[in-house]
Amino acid sequence: MLVNMKTMLAVANEHNFAVPAFNTPTGMIMRGILEASEAAKAPVIIEVHPLELELARPSFITALVEEAHKASVPVCIHMDHGSSLEQIMTAIQCGYTSVMIDASSKSFEENVALTKKICEVAHAVNVSVEAELGTIGTTKQDMDTTSSTEIRYTDPQEAARFVEETGVDCLAVAIGTCHGIYPKGMIPKLQLDLLKEIKEAVKIPLVLHGGSSNRDEEIAAASRMGINKINISSDIKDPFYRKCREVLQDPYIREPDAIYPPCIEAMKEVIFHKFDLLGTTGKAHLYY
Ligand SMILES: [Zn+2]
Repeated sequence: MLVNMKTMLAVANEHNFAVPAFNTPTGMIMRGILEASEAAKAPVIIEVHPLELELARPSFITALVEEAHKASVPVCIHMDHGSSLEQIMTAIQCGYTSVMIDASSKSFEENVALTKKICEVAHAVNVSVEAELGTIGTTKQDMDTTSSTEIRYTDPQEAARFVEETGVDCLAVAIGTCHGIYPKGMIPKLQLDLLKEIKEAVKIPLVLHGGSSNRDEEIAAASRMGINKINISSDIKDPFYRKCREVLQDPYIREPDAIYPPCIEAMKEVIFHKFDLLGTTGKAHLYY
């Protein structure tokens, strides 16, 4: 069942769980995500970043929409880190049911103005909008060049004003995560007290970016404390391509149907684990 983000996260907000948002520009990873979601009876968000869309071409979104319609679980198709009106309009044309406008590197007023404008056009055609306030750090290994190396934590009162002024559907907050996989020796720590304060000030669903390789207990706690969407990219691509490299050790292997199935299976194990961690397993029935 194809849904937008507002529908997807309203249920998660009410029942205190989070839905993982997995990034992919390829059909093989898409297949694994959908198979795992149906097996776990879990709602799921599939995200395609503008750079991933460039790689995959717009027809990949057509395929995703088709698969989402046929799926036995709710599926939301989301543009990750859109940065301009042009990108957002392209996403809407392609068939995404949700978009993110990331103007977090701009001033508060500019962020409000752009997000408000995007909400007006997207909401007119039932497409949901995610925005970001505060800045999430980067580990320098990911594609998101708008990320800064420093984290600017989200201010709860500013967040309340932002939501009020923009009409946004969900808000990405900066509480101590970074994009990408953390370098050895770096231990990320989530500010769960800050999350609690933000959730008290803001009633809409909150989003956590950079959810890869944070400690399981922290991610699980965040998903019970008001985070309703957690972006996970590196953590599923890693097992997929690790297995891929292993399979390709055989110099004669060349058929995709020999190469990819074990990669999909290796990735699905991680996806099942994430669903359990976030409380998503078995929650699909709440949407029907
Ligand atoms: Zn992000």
